Amino acid sequence: MRILVLLACAVGIGTSIGTAFLFPVTGTDLTRFAVLAVCAVIAIELTRHIERRRVYGHASSVAYIDTKAVWSFAAVIVLPPVFATLMVVLTYLHSWTRVQHERPGGLVYRWMFSGATVLVGTQAAVAVLALGMHDYPGAPATAGLAGLTDLGIIVLAATLRWAINVGLIMAAIALSKPNIQARELFSNFGEQMLEAGAMGLGLVAAAIVVANPFVMPGIVIAMVALHRGILVNQYQQASRTDAKTGLSTAGWWHDFADQALVRARDHGTTLGLLIVDLDHFKRLNDTFGHPHGDRVLKAVAEELIAEIRNEDACGRWGGEEFVVVLPDVGDRHNLRNVAERIRRRIQAIVVEPPSHLAQAGDATVTASVGGAVFPSPAISSLDELLLAADTALYAAKNAGRNTVRLSGADLPAGPAVPDQPQLPQQAEPPQASA
Ligand code: GH3
Ligand code: MG
Ligand code: MG
Repeated sequence: MRILVLLACAVGIGTSIGTAFLFPVTGTDLTRFAVLAVCAVIAIELTRHIERRRVYGHASSVAYIDTKAVWSFAAVIVLPPVFATLMVVLTYLHSWTRVQHERPGGLVYRWMFSGATVLVGTQAAVAVLALGMHDYPGAPATAGLAGLTDLGIIVLAATLRWAINVGLIMAAIALSKPNIQARELFSNFGEQMLEAGAMGLGLVAAAIVVANPFVMPGIVIAMVALHRGILVNQYQQASRTDAKTGLSTAGWWHDFADQALVRARDHGTTLGLLIVDLDHFKRLNDTFGHPHGDRVLKAVAEELIAEIRNEDACGRWGGEEFVVVLPDVGDRHNLRNVAERIRRRIQAIVVEPPSHLAQAGDATVTASVGGAVFPSPAISSLDELLLAADTALYAAKNAGRNTVRLSGADLPAGPAVPDQPQLPQQAEPPQASA
């Protein structure tokens, strides 16, 4: 990855210097550059608060996309290459100082690499435009056929610039996280629409800055106004993710489970459901403090994720309660195996308590698990499935905790599973999970 980063920087700088003196610079170019630069700075300033929110919520495993390309792509079309390069440098520097650098873990080398990939892409676009456009650098031709070919050439240049930028960034992410799955790498690919939109507006800006620079504020206003919409993706993501554990929220999980149940009913397949409730979690909190409890919740979530398959979904149902839905789980025997593995994983969790409380008590984490399978007698809806699993969980708590109970033949409480340690009798009456 380091080699790739250094190579991209070297090629970016090298090609930028190489193209810088190929075309003469005129006074008109200077004016147009000034107009675009002022618009860029104003637009970045006015969208700063929104971009900051996007940057904060942005995972490092996906490429971050913004709308700076409006200005730098307009510059590639109408200005000599040296100004196109300067516009990339200017917009990157400005957005680094005003948006990015406060990001937790905001790494300057990542930002430089991203800028370098855009520089490489920009010089590739310069080459395409210089070879193909009728009047490069300048506005696209307005006469019939010439206008159409210019448009085709510009689309080609934009595509090349985009492909080089995204390709290099994805390669770097893949190299730095060798275990990353393609699915995660492409998880925000929908946001590439934003990049396409930015370059589309860049094309419009190119025509306008040549024809009538006084109309440019129109583009700035449109950009700033439309920017509000781009948070929608992030809000959607946030609304379905529980902040503390990273699992699905109860609402999203419920919708997912509902659809899974409909599918199971339609296709005549099974659906498993587990409710996992941590044992004596209140005591753990009281002994080691709430922050320790939070770390335990996170650790439990990680174990749940590690255990389930891609098609399953795991949600945080309430405070220390988790729900897992398992489409096509097969029979109760399979569900019990999964539940047992989850129970054992949780029992094996080690979260070190704060050092001054290390001797305060037992930090072992255990969970009771209740489960049910659809279809079963008297279970035909999600609510009935949840109720059955909850009743089974209640039985698991009654049986001494750290155990699995399934709805049906297990109930009323049967003998404890063989590999489970004998727990001391609880002083207080077991709590039903709500
Ligand atoms: P049982 O074995 O019967 O389930 O006992 P319990 O103590 O786990 O159950 P109870 O329902 O009495 O207590 C749940 C506790 O979970 C109480 C609450 O303080 C804690 N809790 C709920 N949400 C959070 C959270 O987000 N973080 C932390 N640290 N604790 C939480
Ligand atoms: Mg509990
Ligand atoms: Mg509970």
